[in-house]
Amino acid sequence: MEEGAKNLGAILDAGAAFLERKSVDAPRLAVEMLASRLLGCKRLELPQHYARVPDEKRLAALRRGVRRVGSGEPVQYVIGGAGFMGHEFRVDPRALIPRPETECLVQAVLDCAPLWQGRPAVVDVGTGSGCIVISLALARPEGLYIGLDSSADAVALATENARALGVAERVALAQGEMCEIVDAGSLDAIVSNPPYIPSGEIERLPVCIRDHEPRQALDGGPDGLRVLSAVIQDAALALKPGGRVFLEIGETQGEAVKAALAAEGFARVEVRPDLAGRDRVAMGVLGEQTRCQGSGVRCQGEERGEETGASCP
Ligand code: GLN
Repeated sequence: MEEGAKNLGAILDAGAAFLERKSVDAPRLAVEMLASRLLGCKRLELPQHYARVPDEKRLAALRRGVRRVGSGEPVQYVIGGAGFMGHEFRVDPRALIPRPETECLVQAVLDCAPLWQGRPAVVDVGTGSGCIVISLALARPEGLYIGLDSSADAVALATENARALGVAERVALAQGEMCEIVDAGSLDAIVSNPPYIPSGEIERLPVCIRDHEPRQALDGGPDGLRVLSAVIQDAALALKPGGRVFLEIGETQGEAVKAALAAEGFARVEVRPDLAGRDRVAMGVLGEQTRCQGSGVRCQGEERGEETGASCP
């Protein structure tokens, strides 16, 4: 390494090499994310500044950030933000970091033309940072939105994000279970990226996930399906007939989730892949029910699973 003050280009090379030695995934990307945050520019604009020699303060901050990422902290927690659906979300260890796969889930909801014909009531179960429900509210102002999470910390973070992104008036965020908060048969759509990793696989996750992201946002019980099954059961109660459920699932869970959806009366059940070609999104339409007159609650033992309504394109 040459003597004297290094320019940004050389600093980024050295930082990436350091993170590579520490076996960090995508080391160059991580160091560029840190640098663009510190310099206040877009990552793709960094090459314009390669010849610059950063001031000592910024350099020290960059070094601290690189060290934290090198010791296993996710770069998004270090910089305190993550991009999702073209928006910047605040993230910290109170909630899961928004993932690109989850954008496929949001896109499936947005692409569902029949859902957007009126003013759909949409609930995001396990909202975490709020990335799903807030992105939906930003893309489709006509919807009515609720984001729920069992973690008060997550709800606080989602509330901060809703404020920062200007949708606090249009997205209700609350701590609690769907069945406590939502009336039976009242919703047009439920969307959820629940914890779906089997408990036994948690230990094998990369350190940056296993030791830093909230376990309750990851652990789906012995078979990974504990929360997914509960969400499906709750959805069957909370959705209107013809209402839709959209779930993020693990790549090996497609068949099990399809079966669980069918068993709860969902028709047009479909599993879609993410951009890597892995099963990632499961969806279904709640079968039309003959409802108890005036009660607003489904009768016991009614026939379920009829095809109804238009399928999503
Ligand atoms: N809904 C949030 C997300 O998609 C949190 C998901 C979770 O905690 N499992 O990022």
